[in-house]
Amino acid sequence: MQIAKSWRRQPSNLRLEGTRCTACGHLAFPATIRCRQCGQAEFDVYQFTGFGEVVVSSIVYEAPRDFGEHVPYCAAVVRLEEGISIATMITDVDPEDVSPGMPVEMVTRRIAAQGDKGPILYAYKFAPLLENQ
Ligand SMILES: [Zn+2]
Repeated sequence: MQIAKSWRRQPSNLRLEGTRCTACGHLAFPATIRCRQCGQAEFDVYQFTGFGEVVVSSIVYEAPRDFGEHVPYCAAVVRLEEGISIATMITDVDPEDVSPGMPVEMVTRRIAAQGDKGPILYAYKFAPLLENQ
């Protein structure tokens, strides 16, 4: 992971902020500079709700560098209620209990750090949506 790049994107990542094409309405996350649907390059900022459901998930036992502290963890593709899918981690649940169709919501969690004195990086993850919400 490129910590510096992730650090720059942290504010918009933590708000789950993407783009909505002003010509065709296509949504993108993370923000894009050219619409994948119509090719034009003007966008409004779009704030995703942060609610969605698990499409597919997998338990990771051998993590890439910077993610070692999290193993085992659940990596998943979540389809947001706006219809786009994003890769993320599922947290606050036993990875064995995650399954397709599980309703989830975005939460903010520590994701990585560079040594003891380096920057701590926070990012979005998704957690099971509680029944009473
Ligand atoms: Zn477009």
